[in-house]
Amino acid sequence: MTASADIQAGRLRPDDYVENFNDVHPPLDRKRAVIEASRCYYCYDAPCVEACPTGIDIPSFIRKIATDNVKGSAVDILSENIMGGACARVCPTEILCEGECVRNTQEEKPVKIGELQRFATDRLFESGAEVFERAPSSGKTVAVVGGGPAGLSAAHRLSMLGHDVVVFEARDKVGGLNEYGIAAYKVPHDFAQREVEFILSLGGIELRCGEAIGKDFSLSDLRRDYDAVFLSMGMAGVNALGLENEDLAGVVDAVDYIAELRQSGDLSKLPVGRKVVVIGGGNTAIDIAVQTRRLGAEDVTLVYRRGKENMNATWHEQDFAQLNGVKIKHWAQPARLIGKDGQVKEIEFEYTQLDDNGRLMGTGDHFTLLVDQVFKAIGQTFVPTPLVNGSADVLELNGGRIAVNEDRQTSLPDVWAGGDCVTGDDLTVVAVQDGKVAAAAIDRKLRS
Ligand SMILES: Cc1cc2nc3c(=O)[nH]c(=O)nc-3n(C[C@H](O)[C@H](O)[C@H](O)COP(=O)(O)OP(=O)(O)OC[C@H]3O[C@@H](n4cnc5c(N)ncnc54)[C@H](O)[C@@H]3O)c2cc1C
Ligand code: SF4
Repeated sequence: MTASADIQAGRLRPDDYVENFNDVHPPLDRKRAVIEASRCYYCYDAPCVEACPTGIDIPSFIRKIATDNVKGSAVDILSENIMGGACARVCPTEILCEGECVRNTQEEKPVKIGELQRFATDRLFESGAEVFERAPSSGKTVAVVGGGPAGLSAAHRLSMLGHDVVVFEARDKVGGLNEYGIAAYKVPHDFAQREVEFILSLGGIELRCGEAIGKDFSLSDLRRDYDAVFLSMGMAGVNALGLENEDLAGVVDAVDYIAELRQSGDLSKLPVGRKVVVIGGGNTAIDIAVQTRRLGAEDVTLVYRRGKENMNATWHEQDFAQLNGVKIKHWAQPARLIGKDGQVKEIEFEYTQLDDNGRLMGTGDHFTLLVDQVFKAIGQTFVPTPLVNGSADVLELNGGRIAVNEDRQTSLPDVWAGGDCVTGDDLTVVAVQDGKVAAAAIDRKLRS
C-alpha cells in the first residue's frame, strides 16, 4: 500500500495496537458461565433454536454447561455447526438466537448464548479432545472449491460420512473471510487457523491451496474427475462507486484493506489516513470504520445513502461504531472525488431523500468533506467467470449468484453450491449451514 504525507503508519504507541485489536469481548470464566447458564429457562420449542440458522439445540448445550458437562455441551454445538467457535464470536446474535430469547424484554437481557457457546467450544479446543470420527470409507471423492466457512463445513461433514474430500483454495491459506475478512478484534490472534486445524484433524480432507477454478482447472475437469462437486467460492467482486477519479491514491476497496490488516504481522506498519470517509451501510462499512479508528485515524465518518433503519449493519454494530468514535451520516450519496497530485483530498456528497414512489433521489443540495482516505464498502458481487473459463458446463444463476434448490443442488445434477456465492444472508453461520445441508444431499445422492 502506498503512503502519502497524510496516510501514515505508526500513528499510535505500540501498546495501543495490542489493546485496540484484542478480543472485543473477554471470554466468560467458569463461574460466570455457570451463572449465565442458570438464567436459561430451557424452553420447550425454544425460539432461539428456530432463530439459529444451523439449528443448534441451545437449551441442551446451555443445560450441560450448568451441570458442568462442558465437553457434552461443545459436542451439541459442533454436531450442528462445526464452526461453532467462530460463530460464537461473529454471529449477529442480537438478530438471531439472542434476539428471540424469551428473556429479551424491556426489563431483562437475553441469555448470552454466543458467549456461552464460546465458553464451551474454547474449552473443548483447549482440551484437545477428539469428538468426531469418520464413517467407513464410501470409496467416493468429492471436490470442494473454496476453503471458507461453507467449503470447510461441507468438507468436514462429507469426511465424517466416509467420503474423501479435496479442497481447492485460490489463496495460500484456507479459512475464507474468517481469515481474511472478519474484523480483527472479533477473531484475534490465530483463532481462525486453530479452528481450521481442528476441522482438518478429522482426516480425509486434502487441501490444495494456490489452486483456483477458472485458472488451474475447470468445472468440467472436476465433474470428470470427482463423484460430486461443491462450489463455495464466496464473492470475488467489489462494487465500484461509478465516479470519476476513483483511481486516485487514497480511494481504497475496504475488503482489500481489511485482508491486508488481517494478514499484517505488525499493525504499526499499516498506513492509515488522518481523515477517513467510509461509504456503505453493512458489516464491511462498520468494520473498516472501527478498524481505521483503532489504527489511529482521528476523524472517521461513515456515510450511507439511506436511513439508520435501512442499514444492513445491525443497531448493535451501529452503536459499537459510534462508541468507537465513528460519526455516521445518513441520507447522502457520493457525487464527486476531488484530488490533488493524484491523491484524494475531498469528497462531495449530495443529500438524498425518497420520492413519492419510495425511490431514492438526490435533493440537489451538497456538502464536502476533507479526506485523505476513502473506503468503498458498498457491497461485493459474485463473479461467475471462473466457472465458465475452460468449462463447457453452464450453471444457472439467480440474481447474479448460483441458483440452488433447498438441497443446495445447482442446475447441474452432480454440482452443489453454498455460502456467499448463492443467494441468501451473507453470514458465516448461513454459509456453515449451506455446507452441512449440501453434504447431506451429496451423501444421499452418492449412496443411491
Ligand atoms: C469485511 C467483512 C466482515 C464480515 N463480518 C461478518 C461478521 O461479523 N459476522 C458474520 O456472520 N459474517 C460476516 N461477514 C460475512 C461472512 O464472512 C461470509 O458470509 C462468509 O465468510 C461466507 O463464507 P463462504 O465460504 O461462502 O465464502 P468466503 O468466506 O468468501 O470463502 C470463499 C473462499 O473461496 C476462495 N476462492 C475464491 N475464488 C476461488 C476460485 N476461483 N478457486 C478456488 N477458490 C476460490 C476464497 O479465497 C475463499 O477462501 C463479513 C464479510 C466481510 C466481507
Ligand atoms: S451459531 Fe450463531 S445464531 Fe446459532 S446459536 Fe450460535 S451464536 Fe446463536
